[in-house]
Amino acid sequence: MTAPNIETIVSLSKRRGFVFPASDIYGGLGSSWDYGSLGVELANNIKQSWWRWLVHERDDIEGLDSSIIQNRNVWKYSGHETTFSDPLVDCRECKSRFRADKLEYPKISDDAETQKAFENTPIEQLIKDKKFPCPNCGAKNFTEPKQFNLMFSTTVGATSAEDDPSALAYLRPETAQGIFINFKNVLDTSRRKLPFGIAQIGKAFRNEVTPGNFIFRTREFEQMELEYFCRPEDAPAIHQEFIDSFQEWFASLGITPENIKLYEQSKEELSHYSDRTVDILYRFFPERENEDAQFDELMGLANRTNYDLKTHSKKPEDAEGKRLNPDSTEDLSYFDPTTNERFYPYCIEPSAGVNRTILAVLMDAYTEKTNDKGEKRVILKLKHNLAPIKVAVLPLAKNKPEIVAMAKDLKKQLLPTMRTVYDDTGGIGKLYARQDEIGTPFCVTVDHESLEDNAVTVRDRDTWEQERIKIADLKDYLQKRLEQ
Ligand code: ATP
Repeated sequence: MTAPNIETIVSLSKRRGFVFPASDIYGGLGSSWDYGSLGVELANNIKQSWWRWLVHERDDIEGLDSSIIQNRNVWKYSGHETTFSDPLVDCRECKSRFRADKLEYPKISDDAETQKAFENTPIEQLIKDKKFPCPNCGAKNFTEPKQFNLMFSTTVGATSAEDDPSALAYLRPETAQGIFINFKNVLDTSRRKLPFGIAQIGKAFRNEVTPGNFIFRTREFEQMELEYFCRPEDAPAIHQEFIDSFQEWFASLGITPENIKLYEQSKEELSHYSDRTVDILYRFFPERENEDAQFDELMGLANRTNYDLKTHSKKPEDAEGKRLNPDSTEDLSYFDPTTNERFYPYCIEPSAGVNRTILAVLMDAYTEKTNDKGEKRVILKLKHNLAPIKVAVLPLAKNKPEIVAMAKDLKKQLLPTMRTVYDDTGGIGKLYARQDEIGTPFCVTVDHESLEDNAVTVRDRDTWEQERIKIADLKDYLQKRLEQ
């Protein structure tokens, strides 16, 4: 079972402390979210899983943490200053705002010829000629399409004027460029040979025109990006290997393969740097009737060719011998000592969103179960390595000091090896329900008998089965079960 819709996760998140609306006490800030005590642990566990799998377990990938604010030239030469924009139109009547490239032709006539002529005219032209109806109010009175750059700008330096172009800087809209501009630093210091990769996790910012759907599309988000450099002829096969292995990684996070789909971008959709891009989609909208519309992007995997390393290099020239990048002081080419060739490596980029992964993991782990009394209970069947809390130690009687002391002592014993909490804020039924709902794999209950037999009850989140375990064996027992 998975969550029936995103709304179910929004309310669970707020109720239990995974995610809260940001700036809530001031009325909020459109599509901004804060991660609470459980949300931050879940996010960290997802990031750790990605980092371990790529940076620690493979021996061909280096880690990096580059600055959010870089020299403006990074975004000039990457192409973001000129191309990272959406065409915006506003309806003058109802004030609704749309992305012109996402508008769809409505039916305007029963006459096939008239309809065909309408659909053969570019939407931007129809808007200019006041012939395109607003999808919200039907008025044909749009503002002219305006290119809206998605990068957040700022000024650097305390004394800089707001409109001083030399002080202009941007918050990065992707972490990738920080990797490309450090290519030579990493290459020189790590003495890597192709193929090798550089991985980075960090915040990115996009002034999205239409943010929404909870943490699916926000203006501030986090990316996990790998740039994997290789010889041009090896790029297609390496690209395919990553497409396959990332699907396995999502499965290892507990995501059901039926909720994952691949999407091959058409030539028209490809970004200016890409030779081939495949998106991994997740069923974020299971409530939608149309099966295709249920899926949306979880991550993208692009073959970025040698575009980025070349564009940030000082050497490439145009037909007249003029340097294409007169601002760069480095050449980001690679010398292959075995073939004596110098060239710009190709780059395969698997780029995943932390926030969309959190949402997919929560939706997929969401389960409902009915107890003996016929009451509905929510269980978050998170993979053990992702669960924010691994073990909750619960005293059966909080007014009995020996039981409380024993429970607190157990928590202390377990804590160094597994995230353990002590909770006595309710009756045992309530405490179990709360731990089930936040995905804690095991509850350990200390009762009156524990004082006699030095054993405790361990309850399994998914089966609700209970087992009596000797305290002397508890740590080993839980550790083994958590590894399953
Ligand atoms: P979309 O088509 O949904 O706008 P994109 O193709 O622009 O996404 P990329 O530039 O490929 O996204 O970024 C890589 C990943 O970063 C995405 O697959 C997604 O997981 C995440 N991401 C991108 N934009 C956002 C956003 N506004 N909010 C949350 N995550 C995002």
